[in-house]
Amino acid sequence: MTIDFAFASTIKGFMPDHEARRLYEISLEAAEKGPELEIGSYCGKSAYFIGTACREKGSVLFSVDHHRGSEEQQPQEEFFDPDLLDTEKDRIDTFPFFRRTLERAGLEDTVIPVVADSNTAGRMWATPLSMVFIDGGHSFEAASADYRIWQQYIMKGGLLVIHDIFYNPEEGGQAPRQVYETALASNLYDPLDMTGSLGVLRRL
Ligand code: SAH
Ligand code: MG
Repeated sequence: MTIDFAFASTIKGFMPDHEARRLYEISLEAAEKGPELEIGSYCGKSAYFIGTACREKGSVLFSVDHHRGSEEQQPQEEFFDPDLLDTEKDRIDTFPFFRRTLERAGLEDTVIPVVADSNTAGRMWATPLSMVFIDGGHSFEAASADYRIWQQYIMKGGLLVIHDIFYNPEEGGQAPRQVYETALASNLYDPLDMTGSLGVLRRL
């Protein structure tokens, strides 16, 4: 295993080690089948784990983010980080951080940044994907749009992975859980074990 949790701890982001390890393991398996895609690059923490797996297998990761931050990451909100504020423009810009992570991690020839809103990136998409990791906006609107846009490209036997599924509303928003349940109810997916808040489904 080539992932380095000490290195990962230097990347800003939202992913505990046990979830990251599982994400790496399933990404390794999926990478054998084709390219992977994540929605929600932020500063590159999840891209480090997925991308490292892709590099080992000669695959690639498309990482989609407009880099302007989610609602809860804006000034005055719960997950605001002042380091990420572009003071000249007075708005969040995580792209320089993401880019630096790719460089430090040696992933510039594996991870393809797609600096765009998920809806825009998906509008003309046509490439089958071995894994889709949904970790973008956490409003119902954003999370269900990500599911609707991207799940149709998952290959047979490929994986749909959803972060931040909480069964107790006090732990977090319920949109990712709702998307997970929508996927289950579609009968297009088999649920695999969850790890923490990470839901993993296999496309039938
Ligand atoms: N996966 C990251 C965390 C992602 S945080 C990690 O491991 O640390 C969520 C990210 O989703 C933010 O960077 C935000 O800019 C992005 N985002 C929110 N809504 C989006 C949308 N509609 N399209 C693209 N990116 C979006
Ligand atoms: Mg998350």
